[in-house]
Amino acid sequence: NELASMMDVGVTQVISTCMSLGMFVSINQRLDAETLSIVAEEFGYEIEFVKPEDEEVNLDEPDSEENLIPRSPIVTIMGHVDHGKTSLLDFIRKTNVIAGEAGGITQHIGAYEVQLADNKGKITFLDTPGHEAFTAMRARGAQVTDIVIIVIAADDSVMPQTREAINHAQAAGAPIIFAFNKMDRPGANADKVREQLAGMNILVEEWGGKYQTAEISAKTGMGVELLLEKVLLEAELLELRANPNKRAVGTVIEAALDKGRGIVTTVLVQAGTLRVGDPILAGCYSGRVKALSNERGARIDFAGPSTPVQVLGMQGAPTAGDKFNVTETEVEAREIANKRLQLQREQGLRTQKHITLDEIGRRLAIGNFKELNIIVKGDVDGSIEALSDSLLKLSKDEIQVNIISKAVGQISDSDVLLASASDAIIIGFQVRPSASARKLAEQEQIDIRLYSIIYDAINEIKAAMEGMLAPTY
Ligand code: GDP
Repeated sequence: NELASMMDVGVTQVISTCMSLGMFVSINQRLDAETLSIVAEEFGYEIEFVKPEDEEVNLDEPDSEENLIPRSPIVTIMGHVDHGKTSLLDFIRKTNVIAGEAGGITQHIGAYEVQLADNKGKITFLDTPGHEAFTAMRARGAQVTDIVIIVIAADDSVMPQTREAINHAQAAGAPIIFAFNKMDRPGANADKVREQLAGMNILVEEWGGKYQTAEISAKTGMGVELLLEKVLLEAELLELRANPNKRAVGTVIEAALDKGRGIVTTVLVQAGTLRVGDPILAGCYSGRVKALSNERGARIDFAGPSTPVQVLGMQGAPTAGDKFNVTETEVEAREIANKRLQLQREQGLRTQKHITLDEIGRRLAIGNFKELNIIVKGDVDGSIEALSDSLLKLSKDEIQVNIISKAVGQISDSDVLLASASDAIIIGFQVRPSASARKLAEQEQIDIRLYSIIYDAINEIKAAMEGMLAPTY
């Protein structure tokens, strides 16, 4: 209806054009970007989309090669529950107080920075362990983590969430370092874990593979220093660099309302330098930096690349994963923030559309579809393997099939978030989504397909990849 009135044509004409494209739409239905373009073209119009993120291109000052200097790595710790993520984060936080600054860390602000002994280097840790937070940020488009540490208790084994963590890290393209924890325990056997990883095609360096590992105890601190040195080594390979001499850009880690201080926002500066007095824009809110403080509550005047910092002075609370920018003037920040708020209201909360099986044919026809990411959940290992193998074999020159995650169990929120972050579809074999995963999938517009016969699953994906899938209504 809206499109019809914009083009000044009858709404039935638009509907019948959609029908001729094989889509049966209702008068109030919202069309995705590609459909809008195609339909408008039929009527001789060209559509220009205005996205809230579009201004960022101008906001982030471009870098030239000579302005880039090394920055410290940003690390997330993942792993199965009770394998020691929190203990490791706490141990590192307690023992590595930044050189020259006395006093332990007193507050949790969502991230902290540590300085290794002998000036070996700094590392920034995101303080919310686990792959859910990591992937939720990624689903919002935030790329924050450079390196992932996956903790595996050596007196236990590779567990479902270990596998999930590996999948999530790999889907993000983040290098992994394995920490075999609880080595102080009598039953600890790191080699057993190495073997299990090898069984998943993950070869650790001691066995000739590419993954660094460290045997540690988050309780006694044994091996933790070595682990951190390996993180720095990995970071060196990544050649992480940023320009500190420009207006700051970065990501919101968390934000909350504090009774005395107003909105308190923790941001991670990723490039440039954030200073007290800077006009700031984050998500749909703006403000001016009134004060900056570090994780020990100490006031600081500025924060450079890879530094987490608490900001006072935002007018509203942005969401974790939102990008932040320093703007030239406060007025500019406010205007963009207001525009984004308005756009968000107009366009509904989500503007991004994820891949569905029905859509593959259309994207193929347009010629911009190269990879099909699939998450496979099933009731037993055997059928998951069989299904995954057959799906992989469907790959052909034009489309590559990637199984970005496969696991036993019902379809969870975490699967949906991974699908959203990686633009994947989810296949459930003899399993169903949990109630909350189903809701989240609706919200995130993730295609979940349920099958009870392997042959059906393969045939349907195959048909979709050939652009032959009969649409379902
Ligand atoms: P998380 O769920 O992965 O964050 O795990 P926690 O850090 O909460 O640890 C789970 C339990 O294992 C706690 O009781 C810890 O005290 C214990 N733990 C963690 N690391 C070690 C370790 O290296 N050695 C021993 N003996 N216990 C540990």
